[in-house]
Amino acid sequence: MNHSNAFSGNRRRFITTAGLAAGTALMAGVVPGCYPVAETPKIWKDMPLTLRFRPYELQLRHVFTLAGSSRTTTPDILTEIEWNGSVGYGEASLPPYLAETQASVSSFLSMLDLGRFHNPLHIENIMDYVDAAAGGNYAAKASVDIALHDLAGKVLGQPWYRMWGLNPADTPSTSFTIGIDTPEVVREKTAEAAAYHILKVKLGRGDDRAMIGAVRAVSSVPLCVDVNQGWTSREEALELCHWLSEQGVVFVEQPMEKSRRDDLAWLTARSPLPIIADEAVQTFDDVLPCHSVYSGINIKLMKCGGLRAARKMIALARALYMKVMIGCMTETSCAVSAASQLSPLVDWADLDGNLLISNDIFDGMTVLDGKVTLPDRPGIGVTPL
Ligand code: MG
Repeated sequence: MNHSNAFSGNRRRFITTAGLAAGTALMAGVVPGCYPVAETPKIWKDMPLTLRFRPYELQLRHVFTLAGSSRTTTPDILTEIEWNGSVGYGEASLPPYLAETQASVSSFLSMLDLGRFHNPLHIENIMDYVDAAAGGNYAAKASVDIALHDLAGKVLGQPWYRMWGLNPADTPSTSFTIGIDTPEVVREKTAEAAAYHILKVKLGRGDDRAMIGAVRAVSSVPLCVDVNQGWTSREEALELCHWLSEQGVVFVEQPMEKSRRDDLAWLTARSPLPIIADEAVQTFDDVLPCHSVYSGINIKLMKCGGLRAARKMIALARALYMKVMIGCMTETSCAVSAASQLSPLVDWADLDGNLLISNDIFDGMTVLDGKVTLPDRPGIGVTPL
């Protein structure tokens, strides 16, 4: 055996490898879509995290009407977590039909001491602590989770969709919501929504066939319908599902009261359209009970506590062969952009909440040609306006 030749062969390979490594290092920081590698040493600074928050009032572009009530604003809390010169942004949107308020979110956030954590990348440890601070408070927890993901992504210099291995080309089209109104107004609003490739039509509070007829008079795009628990007879619900499938509807959201599990399971077993849970699913613990009662679930960050919880819900729903939809509240581009990072994983997206307010204070995800479009920016992809 010729040791000398073996050594020189290894040495040549070593020199070639070293040369390649040096070349790669020189290129670091100029690879398109990557952020400078020089940013990463920040993670070793031993500094405490700082949490700040303030109330904000979202102004709605149009009066928002639900059965028996209407409003022109949505209360909100804006959060920031700062570490070593980087700031992550989050928010809690608080529509009045949910239990949380600006006062409850402020009091929850005041209890937290994020200064005990010195590494923003330890999201699991930090969110375990936040979850254990008190039960409930899911929008408040989401506001911390979103700011933490934004901060960690900024420290690492990458958007979350990339760190999760998702292809930004796989984002779905987002639906745009058409509320219950007179046929004239519905036709007008549908015509204004011509840029969208799927519309969400609210049903269950009046003449459903007239609502769909008014939409179909001016648009032929696929529709989904949200009944908000408005149907009462399961037989009539099934008949409507058959009729809706002939009208180009692709799924039905929360057709009956969530407590009527047997009737909903009966309907799901027979309906030609997938039946999606919304009011019936809030957190991770609600996913398993939805199996065999619904075909899928609608996940919202404000309901479940943020991105960490939403990812777990998606994983469990997929393991149960369920459909997944991601939705939102009326909220700024901050929370909508956070939810958008997950959107390549879902079947349908309803991410129009930032388009419904007139005082957005973030630039983030955009809707281009009806499709959720992710910015190539670190974290959740937002910058303050
Ligand atoms: Mg809904």
